[in-house]
Amino acid sequence: MTKPIHGGVYLILGLGITVLSYYLLDKGQKMAIFFYAGIIMAAYGLIKLLIIRLTKERKPKDANARMVMPKQVPVKYCSRCGSQIRQQDQFCQFCGMKQY
Ligand SMILES: [Zn+2]
Repeated sequence: MTKPIHGGVYLILGLGITVLSYYLLDKGQKMAIFFYAGIIMAAYGLIKLLIIRLTKERKPKDANARMVMPKQVPVKYCSRCGSQIRQQDQFCQFCGMKQY
C-alpha cells in the first residue's frame, strides 16, 4: 500500500513558499505567483489535513465499539446471607432479604 503524501507536507511546503516568496517580493513582483501558489498549496494541505482528521475521528469510535468488553454485571452481596446478587436486585434471590 502506497502512503499518500501527508497533508502537513503541503501545508508546511506551501507556508514555506509563501513566506519565502513574501520576503523575495521586495526584489521583484515576479515572485507574486509563488506567493499565491504557496497560499493555495498551504490551503490544499490544510483541507487535506481536515479531511483526514474528520475521517480518522470516525475510525477510533468504531474500534472502541468493537473493543468494548461485555458489560460486567455489577454485583453486591446480600446483607443477611452474604450471597452474591445483582446490583439491581431489590430482594436477595436466596433468602428474600430486602436490599438497600
Ligand atoms: Zn440473602
